[in-house]
Amino acid sequence: MSAHSFLPPFEMPPEEPDDDSAFDDFDATELYCPRCKQAVPVRKRLLLVLPEGDKYEYRCGFCSASVGTKIDHTRKPVSGIY
Ligand SMILES: [Zn+2]
Repeated sequence: MSAHSFLPPFEMPPEEPDDDSAFDDFDATELYCPRCKQAVPVRKRLLLVLPEGDKYEYRCGFCSASVGTKIDHTRKPVSGIY
């Protein structure tokens, strides 16, 4: 029996389909959640990329209820960062 099987190296996909979108990101912000009836840590989630900025939705870190949205006006120069 030949134990000399050739395994190809791990292949990285050439391009990630979504580099930084659809990525749940914990924010330091705390917002009031109507369901939890208290200020809760929120998760920031990219909703839309608009010409004037990126629209984010804030979701409760406990029950995932939507607790608000905001538009981030920071401009990204080029999306090509690893
Ligand atoms: Zn909640």
